[in-house]
Amino acid sequence: MAKIINVSNRLPVTISGGEIRKSSGGLVSALEGMMGGDEGLLWIGWPGGAIGEEERGEVEKRLREEEGCLPIYLGKEEAGLFYEGFANSSVWPMLHSMTWFMRYEGGWWEAYRDVNRRFAEKVLEVAEEGDVVWVHDYQLMLVPEMLKRERPGLRVGFFLHTPFPSYEVFRCHPKRRALLEGLLGADLVGFHTFGYLRHFRSAVLRILGLESEFMHVRHGAHTTCLGVYPIGINAGKFEEELGTERHAAEKKRIRESNPGQKIVLSVERLDYTKGIPRRLAAIRLFLEKCADRDGIKFIFVSVPSRGGVEQYRELRANVESRIGRMNGRFATVHNSPIHFIHGSVEFHELCALYAAADVALVTPLVDGMNLVAKEYVAAKREETGVLLLSEFAGAAQEMFGAVQVNPYDPPAMAEAIRGALGMPEEEKKRRMGAMREVVMKFDAEAWARSFVGDLREIHCGGGESREAEAAGKELREVLMAKGKKMAIFVDYDGTLRELEREPMAACPTEELMALLGKLKQKEDVEVTIISGRKAEDLEGWLGECGFGLVAEHGAIVRRAGSKVWERLDLNVSYGWKGEITHVLRGYERSTPGSFVEEKQTGVVWHYRKSDMQFGEWKAKQLVEELTAVTANQPLEVRHGKKIVEVASTLVNKGAAAIRLMEGKHYDLVVTAGDDLTDESMFRMNVENLVSIKVGEGATSARYRVRGPGELRELLASVVGDSGSQTDMGPGVRLSQA
Ligand code: UDP
Repeated sequence: MAKIINVSNRLPVTISGGEIRKSSGGLVSALEGMMGGDEGLLWIGWPGGAIGEEERGEVEKRLREEEGCLPIYLGKEEAGLFYEGFANSSVWPMLHSMTWFMRYEGGWWEAYRDVNRRFAEKVLEVAEEGDVVWVHDYQLMLVPEMLKRERPGLRVGFFLHTPFPSYEVFRCHPKRRALLEGLLGADLVGFHTFGYLRHFRSAVLRILGLESEFMHVRHGAHTTCLGVYPIGINAGKFEEELGTERHAAEKKRIRESNPGQKIVLSVERLDYTKGIPRRLAAIRLFLEKCADRDGIKFIFVSVPSRGGVEQYRELRANVESRIGRMNGRFATVHNSPIHFIHGSVEFHELCALYAAADVALVTPLVDGMNLVAKEYVAAKREETGVLLLSEFAGAAQEMFGAVQVNPYDPPAMAEAIRGALGMPEEEKKRRMGAMREVVMKFDAEAWARSFVGDLREIHCGGGESREAEAAGKELREVLMAKGKKMAIFVDYDGTLRELEREPMAACPTEELMALLGKLKQKEDVEVTIISGRKAEDLEGWLGECGFGLVAEHGAIVRRAGSKVWERLDLNVSYGWKGEITHVLRGYERSTPGSFVEEKQTGVVWHYRKSDMQFGEWKAKQLVEELTAVTANQPLEVRHGKKIVEVASTLVNKGAAAIRLMEGKHYDLVVTAGDDLTDESMFRMNVENLVSIKVGEGATSARYRVRGPGELRELLASVVGDSGSQTDMGPGVRLSQA
């Protein structure tokens, strides 16, 4: 039976005095609601609290049988280092862009890594073919990579329940690389908002140097898809509660204990991300101008949180003393304006509070989603009310009927409270109605369905997709056809050899030289390496191979077996080079890290070492400028990988290959390249052409491999040296381009 293995720091149970109680959070009901009949759900996590060694056997058995839970035990000291330390004192503040709360101490990282490994090992113990693993949140960011390393075919998703900060903030974390690499083990990484996804992509680019396509990141042989999945609430549970007598009675009690008063409600964990001190400042400003202090009640439900972390203890003391002072200052004989509950309330009480409250004041400084905002809306079936919501909560992306406020602006918040209390009924109804539709429709179950549905769709390295398999088979057949004469025109950088930041570092590896050596021995195969590099580079590295070499995108050729370079561009004029070089030098000056390379046949501006984004911007600007400058000349402006090159239109790789094939017959012509400059080879009007694009990007080639490693494996199959049973090597995944 295929199952979903859900992995989160805490199990959805509480164990006390031998009693196991399932908690009813959104995630539990979401997952249970979406389970089909023939699927199982297993949950791996920490059961919380301390369970004695002697009880464990019995507890474990019952957890597994009754609740589908597998516990991971954490010792007190270990929990201190992993949970309160690394996770809550370094990662949590960083993810919430509050670096001034961030602390980092020795031993935290090791504990985090070890606990993550224990979670991964537990998953690997129980995961079977066809299972889906769903890892949750910032406590377990290393688990995806640990799973994938051991079992590449396992389908792994990760959802981040917090925000993802900008690169400038993320990079402050001492373990920024390891955290990103951990996440990239997943096949799918989900975020609440597009903003967080965007930040993640930029961190991946700047910290790991990996460029991502719009919704996925490729790294090595693995692709991580990215997605936006705003979490919803357990809508059914609210709907059910609203119809009960208990609800009506509880609401009545709340109303009666605050007779004739408007209720303004805040509910949250007592956390520094929730913006409580600034909200209190806004309330103070409001009360200073309020004519009827008896007519208003602010209710705070502040759920105790992370009491083991110093900043949380300080926050509590700060909030309590502020509230004490404000109540002292603004109390009348009949009323003290702020009712503060430091504790949690029962679900039915919370639901009634939501229903009874005239305004919900939800003003976090930053919040991944904020479910309270959605719950307030869900509870408003009969009543109306106004949701006053921080712009910086993920929920603001969906709750368009809310009055949105900047939580850093207490005077504006005070004004917004006044406005909300005076809002006409009709407007309240209209705003609330629209939001309620969204909240009830996109609930927690819809969220989980959408994430797991997408995760199931993803190809995750466990076996080739059918299309890729068919393409692979076809190409294998042509390449392996015996006794056929074959010409191979293959680009070098990014095709035979991985790109390097420093162009001269991309010399051929031993593995590549061995492969080329074997290709050379095949009598019916003629190989030409066709590159944009200068003749000296090619000669220095590959001169002894005896292959045909083509330099400068087709301008200069050294035929197979010859030592003499001949020019194919004798009737091409290069009078334009001075003017173009002048333009490129301007870009060299204004783009740190970039440089100009003057070739015999053209000029190239390289920006591989510049800031990635800035380099890309400047390249686009340069292309535009050059297009105008070269409009009436037979020149081509090529925007290749980290280069902009200007060359004569009469010189290109396709034309050079055709020249080299003149007067010869081949049963098969294979071309491979990774760059725009290789497209002219893919478009050659030649019979029996097999064109292979290496890597991402639009192409007119027929086939695609994911990187140089895969191309080398493919070429190894031509010489019958794939190192595996199949002709193509185990890891090569070909697809129709
Ligand atoms: N909540 C609770 N007990 C309470 C008050 C609130 O369990 O006494 C719940 C509330 O219903 C909501 C959750 O705590 O589902 C808070 O989630 P939110 O996304 O707003 O903030 P987080 O605590 O995840 O930062």
